[in-house]
Amino acid sequence: MNITTKIYPSEELTVVANVKGSSLPKESLVFSAHIQEPGAGDNATGVGTQLEMAMITAKLVKASKLEAKRTLTFLWGDEITSTHLYIIEKDKRTSEINWGISLDMVGENTAITGGSFLIEKMPDPSAIWTRGEDKHTEWGGRKLELKDMKPHYLNDFIIHVFENQGAYAHWEVKTNPFEGGSDHTPF
Ligand SMILES: [Zn+2]
Repeated sequence: MNITTKIYPSEELTVVANVKGSSLPKESLVFSAHIQEPGAGDNATGVGTQLEMAMITAKLVKASKLEAKRTLTFLWGDEITSTHLYIIEKDKRTSEINWGISLDMVGENTAITGGSFLIEKMPDPSAIWTRGEDKHTEWGGRKLELKDMKPHYLNDFIIHVFENQGAYAHWEVKTNPFEGGSDHTPF
C-alpha cells in the first residue's frame, strides 16, 4: 500500500472525559488508551474501542438507563506520560483514582488474528514466581522483586468478569503476568 504522511511540530494534548459518579463522585475508575504509535492494532484499536465505550456510556446515562455510582474517566493521551501526569496533577482532577485499566490492542477479531483475549495482571506473585499456566509474553518484561508486588482485588474481579464474558461470547480468555510498558504501569 501507499501511505501519505505529514510530519510537523505540534502540541501534544490529553483528552479526558468524565461521567460523574452519582453517589461516590470522588472515587473513580480510569480507562486509558494511548494515541501515539500509529498502528492499526497498537493502538487505533484501543483509541476507537474507548471512544465507543465513552459514547455508549454517555448515551445510556442521558437516557437514565445507567447510573454509575462512581466516576468513570476516559483518558486519551501519550502512552505512560499522560497517565503519569494525570496521576500527579491532582489539582486538575476532582476524583481520586481508585482503579485504572489500559486499553492497548483490544477488540480484535480473534478468529482472524489467532490471538486470545489477553489480560495483563496486576504485579501480583505471578510476576515474580511464574508457575502453573503463568507465562511471560515474547516481549518479555523485567523480573519483579517482592517490593514491586501490588496485589489488588481488581485483578481477580476483572479476570472473573472476562471469563464469564468469554464463555458467553466464545472468546478465549488468557492472562499473563505483569510486565509493564503501557498505561497500566503508572496506575
Ligand atoms: Zn500499545
